[in-house]
Amino acid sequence: MNIYIETYGCQMNVADSELVASILKKEHFSIVEDINIADVIIFNTCSVRQHAEDRVLGRINNEMSRKRSKKDLKIGVIGCMAQRLDKQLNEMNSSIDFVVGVDQYNHLPAIINGLYNENDFECNTIVNDAEIYKDIYPIHSGKFNAFVTIMRGCNNFCTYCIVPYTRGRERSRPIDDIISEITEIGKKGFKDVSLLGQNVNSYHYKNVNFAELLKKVNKIETIKRIRFITSHPKDLSDDVIKVMAESDKVCEHLHLAMQSGDDEILARMNRGYTSQHFYDITQKLRKAMPDISITTDIIAGFPGETEEQFQRTYDLMKKIQFDYAFTFKYSPRTGTKAAEFKDQIPETIRLERLKKLIELQQDITTQKYKEQIGKIKEIYVEQISKKSEYEMAGKSRDFKITVFPGDSTLIGKFVKVKITDAVGWTLKGELIK
Ligand code: SF4
Repeated sequence: MNIYIETYGCQMNVADSELVASILKKEHFSIVEDINIADVIIFNTCSVRQHAEDRVLGRINNEMSRKRSKKDLKIGVIGCMAQRLDKQLNEMNSSIDFVVGVDQYNHLPAIINGLYNENDFECNTIVNDAEIYKDIYPIHSGKFNAFVTIMRGCNNFCTYCIVPYTRGRERSRPIDDIISEITEIGKKGFKDVSLLGQNVNSYHYKNVNFAELLKKVNKIETIKRIRFITSHPKDLSDDVIKVMAESDKVCEHLHLAMQSGDDEILARMNRGYTSQHFYDITQKLRKAMPDISITTDIIAGFPGETEEQFQRTYDLMKKIQFDYAFTFKYSPRTGTKAAEFKDQIPETIRLERLKKLIELQQDITTQKYKEQIGKIKEIYVEQISKKSEYEMAGKSRDFKITVFPGDSTLIGKFVKVKITDAVGWTLKGELIK
């Protein structure tokens, strides 16, 4: 049976799709990249914003005509949306044949095999806070970078976030399991690994914390670059910063979600840190690694946010000078605390504030990229550039796409490139022989 998986949302979902592919392949299903030959279409979904859910529902509607012409085609929904909406999904669209939650992927083969009749519907969204998918090695779909899940779930309950409700409580994967997966990945030729979790800094397995884990991964010979996502500012310890600075393979790049620059809003978000604490971390990081690139997430128009409070976020962004910021207008999610707050900000104001943040960050990012001109960077060459067959493209250690004249024999190699220009969010350079 051919299975086509379509993935939405964050890297955790990308990694989960790879895990699901591995579970299904073991039971002799084939994973295909062409939807036209699929017997089963699985949508791995995201619930972080309403927009993300609407997109998936729209996509499922699009596939209804395919189902009409191929009677035995099955459509399934997995991931956060499956967990959140459960059986309701089948009421919303009866062409959905199965709904499977994030802790029940081991049951997918049996669920799919059990759908005999046209109107059969299966739903399993039981929460299992102990499920860590031990000993299942995902089929990594990338060529150069592999995502490795080190923990699942989240205990933080930020008041705007649905994740703790859809992904359950935090649990760390056994250290040996992680190390053997990364060792296997290295043997397959991957040199760049990203450690994933909702809050990797709180990784804890027996006596190994995140700093120790980083040290252990750094020792794996075949791996040349290590990144990790997502970090929580309240849990990013001095030890982790020290290990980042001292470990040659841990890249000078960190995504650290600030969300707001106002202490009262941060408290209402239940983020567990102040704006001063956040600022201090960025300074420590830059002191330890002067070339580090720091990226962030910011929410505009959180319930109750006054003009002054918004201005504090704007000012702190300006002061910190992030390399890049993912900015969002606040989107209420049913089931979260913040969605119940009475002082919701009108959409027009949220959009206005978002626009201001985007404009500010565009200027900062442009400047940050210009500052790279003249520097020599190590680039992991990934592909021929989309714009010219005579140019190669890859990423620097600080996660900037870099393009330079070269040929395809360089793909998969690490090269030194002198940066000569910055065009939009791309660096241009020349190869140093
Ligand atoms: S740390 Fe906060 S924002 Fe991140 S997944 Fe957990 S609850 Fe959501």
